[in-house]
Amino acid sequence: MTDHRIILSKKELPKSWYNIQADFSKPVPPALNPATGKPATAEDFAPIFPMSLIEQEVSVERWIDIPEEVLDILSIWRPTPLIRARRLEQFLDTPAKIYFKDESVSPAGSHKTNTAVAQAYYNKQAGIKRIATETGAGQWGSALAFATNFFGIECVVYMVKISYEQKPYRRSLMNVWNATVYPSPTQNTKTGRMILEKNPGCLGSLGIAISEAIEDTVTHKDTKYALGSVLNHVLMHQSIIGLETKKQLKQVGETPDIMIGCCGGGSNFAGLIFPFVFDPMNAKKQIRFIGTEPTACPTLTKGPYRYDFGDTAQTTPLIKMHTLGHNFIPQGIHAGGLRYHGMAPLVSFLANQGMIESVSYHQNDIFKAAITFARTEGRVPAPETAHAIKAVIDEALKAKQEGKEKTIVFNYSGHGFFDLASYDKYLSNQLHDFEYPDEKIAESLKDLPNIKE
Ligand SMILES: *Cc1c(COP(=O)(O)O)cnc(C)c1O
Repeated sequence: MTDHRIILSKKELPKSWYNIQADFSKPVPPALNPATGKPATAEDFAPIFPMSLIEQEVSVERWIDIPEEVLDILSIWRPTPLIRARRLEQFLDTPAKIYFKDESVSPAGSHKTNTAVAQAYYNKQAGIKRIATETGAGQWGSALAFATNFFGIECVVYMVKISYEQKPYRRSLMNVWNATVYPSPTQNTKTGRMILEKNPGCLGSLGIAISEAIEDTVTHKDTKYALGSVLNHVLMHQSIIGLETKKQLKQVGETPDIMIGCCGGGSNFAGLIFPFVFDPMNAKKQIRFIGTEPTACPTLTKGPYRYDFGDTAQTTPLIKMHTLGHNFIPQGIHAGGLRYHGMAPLVSFLANQGMIESVSYHQNDIFKAAITFARTEGRVPAPETAHAIKAVIDEALKAKQEGKEKTIVFNYSGHGFFDLASYDKYLSNQLHDFEYPDEKIAESLKDLPNIKE
């Protein structure tokens, strides 16, 4: 029997998170207070985040201890397996070796639970009773509901309306774990009411849902806000993925040539690759890091590297990132988790330094890749994850053409069991490709704040 799964024992669960900010030779451009144009202070973030997470956000310590209680919950499903996709390799007839880190085994079905547990823990420590958040496709909302339930914190989720309608079972899952879910835009907030007045049929966007969750936070007692991606502390919590992967590759004596992840806000991609970027092994071998995204939301491939708001109502500090503009409203493509207008500042910074590559795909192409994967490896990926798989297949075929034995490692960020309606559409030829038009990007970018740098 061939060995497919590379397993770590519980003892090998990483005890610290890795903070890439410790290894940058020049600092990442800081978040700015939009009113003053000066670097944002802890006080600017204090209304929405507990101080311990604000400290992590700006920390330049390389290693940060993972609290025992967090490890205990993570160990319900971690360490996750690293799997060699031998059947996919055989099907592609490629000399490339393909490995994937299986983050779909978490109880909520994606990598997002890694940071959800950490964030719920720090909020609990700070005496917080209620957390408000937004969710796009529902993965983040369900991950946070899973985590807050363990800590007895009330969870309120603003879910982008189009997903609320397209993915009713994600909402059910959140309800099972005790969360309250609203289709955003709602009548609960000023922002929601204003948007509905202008456009009663608005199907929502992540930018709008974030504004609503933040407004809910600052208008309720003992409430804080939690974000499932983008921010530095979130990416750091996800580093556990790459740290485990490193140990697993070592077990089989492999070093990667190419590492791939799909990019919504950038957290699963960062979680996989950050522990490798400044590793001495990389200096010797030069790993190619590839972030993938939809042509319908081409943040890394087409958005400029600029200061912008994280939300539509312009309530967040300004962050320097690849952005399509905070007023960007994406089409209803089926990879809901990849529809955010911005990209994590840390991922954007690396992209700007030429240390990572990016590529975008049409949804029919990614579903084709997903079906290939499901029919060879047996696992049904989330449409988000399928963006990574498409790049993996392309690179494996390139390796075949060039006759090179490459080692490709990708992040299997989540399963697609709640996305079968979109698989149905693909299989019956009802999915339409969409490329976000350059003129629309230019239009949305006109609203970017003017920051002198
Ligand atoms: C949310 C999500 C993504 C995209 O978010 P990142 O922060 O870029 O990781 C990708 N895959 C799955 C399965 C998700 O749930």
